[in-house]
Amino acid sequence: MYALHGRNTADCALAYTELFGWKVLPGYRFRRHAGCTCKRRGCRAPGAHPVDESLLQPVEAMKIPEVFNQRPGAGLIALCEGFDAVTMPYELGLSVLLEAEGAGLGVPCLTVPGMAATILVAMRTGQHLARLDSRIRVVERWVALPPTHDVRWESLPSPELALTDAADLTPHLTRAVRLHRPEPVQSALRSSSSAPGEGGS
Ligand SMILES: [Zn+2]
Repeated sequence: MYALHGRNTADCALAYTELFGWKVLPGYRFRRHAGCTCKRRGCRAPGAHPVDESLLQPVEAMKIPEVFNQRPGAGLIALCEGFDAVTMPYELGLSVLLEAEGAGLGVPCLTVPGMAATILVAMRTGQHLARLDSRIRVVERWVALPPTHDVRWESLPSPELALTDAADLTPHLTRAVRLHRPEPVQSALRSSSSAPGEGGS
């Protein structure tokens, strides 16, 4: 039985590979107060890029224990292939998740608690969501997975369920965005003393 909630990085890496066919590698980690463990100034993918540039090819299942055990303390990253990872502020992500669950949609969601939420949707559909708000973006290449420090599954993926098409999440995300950034429409209406009550006649 594979456990996605395990603590052993090699075991989890194997689970992601065998259950979902994801391509995984040991990665740098993101630290809340110290940035990416690569320590490069202006790192372009904090906490989600390979630790070993010679390992650009994702690891085959057979070699996973060896590759990960040789790099203790490294994070676990997966290539964004076969899915789109859409990242957004934490509260917004949880809100979308609740809305989607209420509508019977299961959406796998990774979180860095208090900071960010990343939902996994069907391949090449993520832009539907990124278009809705500037705080939302599609992850370009690698995404950090548990048991990487500070990264959790808020909602687990399932090998039996296909990923949701992001277009189906659009109404839920739109509501969540409104909730987390109230539009200044009401105050604009109030400041206009001659707002007509009815339109046209
Ligand atoms: Zn880095």
